[in-house]
Amino acid sequence: MKRERFENGNWIDAVRPEVMPFASGASRRELLKMLAAVGAGAMFPVGNLIAQAARPGVNLKTGRIDVHHHANPPIYVKTTGRFANWTWTPAESIEQMDKYGIATALLSITQPGIWFGDDQKARVLARQCNDYMAQTVQDHPGRFGLFAAIPLPDQEGSLKEIEYAYDTLKADGIGLLTSYMDRWPGDPAFVPVFEELNRRNAVVFIHANGPSCCQNLIPGITPTMAEFDFDTTRCVESLLVNGTLARFPNMKLIFVHSGGTLPVLAGRINDRFPKDRMDKVPNGVLYEIKKLYYEVAHATYAAPLAALTHFVPTSQILFGTDYPAEPIPTTVDPLAHFGLSAKDLHAIDRGNAERLFPRFKV
Ligand SMILES: [Zn+2]
Repeated sequence: MKRERFENGNWIDAVRPEVMPFASGASRRELLKMLAAVGAGAMFPVGNLIAQAARPGVNLKTGRIDVHHHANPPIYVKTTGRFANWTWTPAESIEQMDKYGIATALLSITQPGIWFGDDQKARVLARQCNDYMAQTVQDHPGRFGLFAAIPLPDQEGSLKEIEYAYDTLKADGIGLLTSYMDRWPGDPAFVPVFEELNRRNAVVFIHANGPSCCQNLIPGITPTMAEFDFDTTRCVESLLVNGTLARFPNMKLIFVHSGGTLPVLAGRINDRFPKDRMDKVPNGVLYEIKKLYYEVAHATYAAPLAALTHFVPTSQILFGTDYPAEPIPTTVDPLAHFGLSAKDLHAIDRGNAERLFPRFKV
């Protein structure tokens, strides 16, 4: 996808059939007018373009709902210098979604998030990224949802951004990370943010991260190889021992990559849970872990999916892809061959997400 120009902080994409408003019922005359306006007729036979624009694509009522799908706003690349090699645009996401039967993708900012040591800068970047993602949601009705970024560990800025995300942008949920430098979300300093998320019955997408402690433990190995999946487990331990999960039961927390190492280690965590902290989990450790949600991006291989499906009921499992960080077939191909029943597969692909995000139930 070619980018046309940079305007008001955003890249404007060159027009191509996939992003034209055929889904909203644009008439042939309107389509021809648009094609003429961009000079597309000079490049391609108009008949071919209309045929492509009219292709049905994915069924928005039955297609998959992808809860782990990253936006890479131009302002994020410009400000942080990260992910400049990603060629992501909304149109490219839609093209991939159509190819793999994904009706809707919930957009989030990937790790390492938007806080790099300066609260004020993080607040500005969170707002810019959220505005960009909200605009993308608005520009493509039904195709995208929004997990808004907040500038944790800045508590005050995070509370303001939660308010803006819900009240102004109508976000579908909030995106967090499993750790912030060497602090994990159960840290008592984070309580005001979780209080507010609980008050709003928030759906919270918690993306894996690499904490400062564990960036380069073994030369040549990046945290993305295995450390991220350990940090998901650490995050849940932190939420357990500090009582966050039991104290704020209205939140719906989604963890990534089939829960990382958590499903395999849950029994040991339950056995080794500190006896002097049992008051933090009055319903028990396993009760708290089993009520969480787990999406399956890049972790539908036989072993992680077997661990997850033995550990939690299907009702807690969601579909995700981690696109564009991971090619979508790395998730959908093993998922299709795991041997799930059609009913369970539908629940994972879409049904469970419809319960969390009723607005996508069309
Ligand atoms: Zn991701």
